[in-house]
Amino acid sequence: MSPLSEAQVERIARELAGRMGGSAPLARSRTSPAGYVARMALTPQAPVPEPVGARLGDGVFATVDDCIEAATIAFANLSAATLEKRREIIAAVRAAMREHGEELARHAHTETGLGRFEHKVLKNRLVAEKTPGPEDLVPETVTGDHGLTLTEWAPFGVIGAITPTTNPTSTIICNTIGMVSAGNSVVFNVHPGATECSMATIRLLNRAITGAGGPQNLITAVARPTIGSATELMHHGGINLLVVTGGPGVVKAAMQSGKRSVSAGPGNPPAVVDATADIAKAARDLVHGAGFDNNIICVDEKEVFVVAEVADGLIKEMRRCGAYLVDQAELRRLEKEVFVEMPPPRTHGAVNKDLVGKNAGEILGRIGVRQGPECPLVIADVPEDHPLVWSEQLMPVLPIVRVPDVDRAIELAREAEHGFGHSASMHSRDIDALSRMARVINTSIFVKNGPIVAGLGAGGEGPTSFTIASPTGEGLTGPRSFSRRRRCVMVDHFRIV
Ligand code: NAD
Repeated sequence: MSPLSEAQVERIARELAGRMGGSAPLARSRTSPAGYVARMALTPQAPVPEPVGARLGDGVFATVDDCIEAATIAFANLSAATLEKRREIIAAVRAAMREHGEELARHAHTETGLGRFEHKVLKNRLVAEKTPGPEDLVPETVTGDHGLTLTEWAPFGVIGAITPTTNPTSTIICNTIGMVSAGNSVVFNVHPGATECSMATIRLLNRAITGAGGPQNLITAVARPTIGSATELMHHGGINLLVVTGGPGVVKAAMQSGKRSVSAGPGNPPAVVDATADIAKAARDLVHGAGFDNNIICVDEKEVFVVAEVADGLIKEMRRCGAYLVDQAELRRLEKEVFVEMPPPRTHGAVNKDLVGKNAGEILGRIGVRQGPECPLVIADVPEDHPLVWSEQLMPVLPIVRVPDVDRAIELAREAEHGFGHSASMHSRDIDALSRMARVINTSIFVKNGPIVAGLGAGGEGPTSFTIASPTGEGLTGPRSFSRRRRCVMVDHFRIV
């Protein structure tokens, strides 16, 4: 990294202090913010001394304040680095996560007890390879009679990121690539139930970053995260942008914090199958999609609406793919296991946390049905108002509803999605029906004739993200979601034609 000029140091110090709304974490340092940043930033090649209170290393700190202090310095140092250095940092992060993805998947699986190890390996590989990097930030220029206007993507500064237990390592990897590509530093408050695998990920990321010549503590994390530390992060003056990935509680808290937030919330993705669909393929896609990582991914199919004339065929094909169809007596026992208390029709019920993310075989074992760990999915033939349809269970139990025609299927899909605007799919060869559902469902991701994970680039085209911000409108987030647009105008000159 090239050293900063005095003017640059002053600018960064002023900018940071200004954005921190008067409660800059650097003010806790023994020197002034400007002096502290200046000392750090003028010697970016030298080892950055650990701030007061840091004991744990490689980006892991005891308190929110310590994280923010270290990340603020790291942000200043990254701002002083070249774009080429940023590209090298991201390349090193991708390489390290490809190398350690399997080990981190194992760690996440062992610690959280959720999902399937082999699918977590795929998730880590997916985010390492397909999360957009610095190349996403293409400057825009407009020229005309009145000169030239340049728009560039600038960082926010220090981002406070809150991550879920369902995709702990992949969300951290994905957020890191997107946020650092945009020039930010990050303070993570991870899910308390995924602390160890998350800290292991943070440490590896920091080692990859410093190994590529990047700043220390570009990625930081609170060693023992709690809801309290998440709340502190949300309200801290040193955080310039919040990015939260989780259920309705954390989204609501972030949006009420008074800070700008990129909020990725819950979903209840419906799949519609009409009479024109390739039924065998739709069945394969549904079993794969709804069974992926035991259905803990927010985009996984959570209910199916199938036109009655092809329903028997679909269920038969899904069983051929290994899905287990419960009979009505088994369904009654399953309801008692899945829900803490059976909710009224058409309502979201509180689900039994012990079964979230468990293998289908284990869930079936609770109702006296023996199936091996290879069983990918439980399916249930249910009426449209069954609570399984209306609840985000996050387990491999997929309700299937028979409907008279495709229009009713689309309407029910819209209602069951609860207006989250998250994800949905349709299996059909009727282009009018596909277009109709695309418009009506109004989700961030709509997949036609494939599993919804294809919308994350897993078996489909395009980049990936594990933070799909529907409530705040960014959709699949990437470097641009974590950037501010800044415009510079040259009046009456620099048009060269
Ligand atoms: P969760 O909401 O329980 O926890 C997510 C994070 O938010 C954790 O770090 C948790 O500590 C924190 N948190 C929770 N409530 C909070 C509050 N009131 N104040 C501050 N912090 C709070 O979710 P989870 O069980 O880890 O993940 C599953 C949920 O997340 C599902 O609803 C799923 O659909 C959703 N999710 C959404 C996306 C997306 O991209 N839209 C991605 C993954 C998960």
